Amino acid sequence: MARVWNFSAGPSCLPEEVLKECAAEMMDYNGTGQSVMEMSHRSSAYEPIIQDAEAMIRKLMNVPENYKILFVQGGGSTQFAMVAQNLGIKTGKAAYIETGVWAKKAAQEAAKLGVEVTTIASSKDKNYSYIPKVEKIEGDYDYAYICLNNTIMGTHYEYLPETGDIPLVADISSCVLSEPLDVSKFGLLFAGAQKNLAPAGVTLVIIREDLITDTPRKDTPTMLMYKTHAENDSMYNTPPCYTIYVLGKVLHWIEKNGGAEGMLKRNQEKADYLYNYLDNSDFYRATAEKGSRSLMNVPFLTKYSTGAEDEESVAKEKAINSKFVKEAEAAGFMNLKGHRLVGGMRASIYNAMSLEGVKALVDFMEKFAKEN
Ligand SMILES: *Cc1c(COP(=O)(O)O)cnc(C)c1O
Repeated sequence: MARVWNFSAGPSCLPEEVLKECAAEMMDYNGTGQSVMEMSHRSSAYEPIIQDAEAMIRKLMNVPENYKILFVQGGGSTQFAMVAQNLGIKTGKAAYIETGVWAKKAAQEAAKLGVEVTTIASSKDKNYSYIPKVEKIEGDYDYAYICLNNTIMGTHYEYLPETGDIPLVADISSCVLSEPLDVSKFGLLFAGAQKNLAPAGVTLVIIREDLITDTPRKDTPTMLMYKTHAENDSMYNTPPCYTIYVLGKVLHWIEKNGGAEGMLKRNQEKADYLYNYLDNSDFYRATAEKGSRSLMNVPFLTKYSTGAEDEESVAKEKAINSKFVKEAEAAGFMNLKGHRLVGGMRASIYNAMSLEGVKALVDFMEKFAKEN
């Protein structure tokens, strides 16, 4: 069967080379006579796999010595709670910048756990289509929180707020290793792997060592303490072994393709190609404002999204969107349906998507525009 062009926001496409390697090693990994799926995580065959994945993260992201790299479970969503419970413990106050669904969920989770949340800026006024400019964050906050790439809204920070001594925490689920990032500017970074790194099942956490402490609340579950995972090299309990194995392969693929710098070049080319088409089209338009645009997630509308709320206009808009998605699928372009909060379509063009795939999509879009 032919492979499709997969524009899913997550889980998302993986490099074909990686999938082929996994397939080749499925029945017998490295002469062990077992699949990595079947192996003890404490075995001499498995331990180098997790150690290599960690070393590759440190290398590719240039992670300083005083940071720990953890592999945990529970996705980005569990990090919303862990960040609050482990970091929001001195003054119990935290600053959040609200740039969309994921940032808002993180703030709500922190509030639920008793952290006094201040939303210091929000782009809600324009349906989160831009990143608010916050040059400096000051106050007695335990941490300041941002979502660096907003998967649903298709926005991305082009700057980092200055936070002084306040640890900056960032959700990098949908932009991890899509570009170089100065880890030393952050207290904590986390990313669910299923957007840009691996299949679902593992969450990468990079945390500055001084932030790994006991939690004052004795009822914090052991599994929800960074300390537990840091002290046990992410092996306190059974890690998501196979996902970490695939992650390691993806990291080597990234290295082969120029590392974080190489990914940025590749991603910039793809995003420029698509945005350039959208910005010059009479039929389509991008929803994210210039200066805040994501290289990874590109939501767009058609000319039938007029904002008019009468029945006829709404029906026309709905019909054209579903026609687009249906015809795209028939032509081999999958998962282009937009998120309901933005409407229209969304193309997620993570590291593994090629420029060739984006060009093919634009050709399809042009054909569709002419016919409609
Ligand atoms: C997908 C996503 C999440 C949620 O991740 P889960 O692993 O499904 O919990 C959080 N933040 C961002 C930016 C995301 O894209």
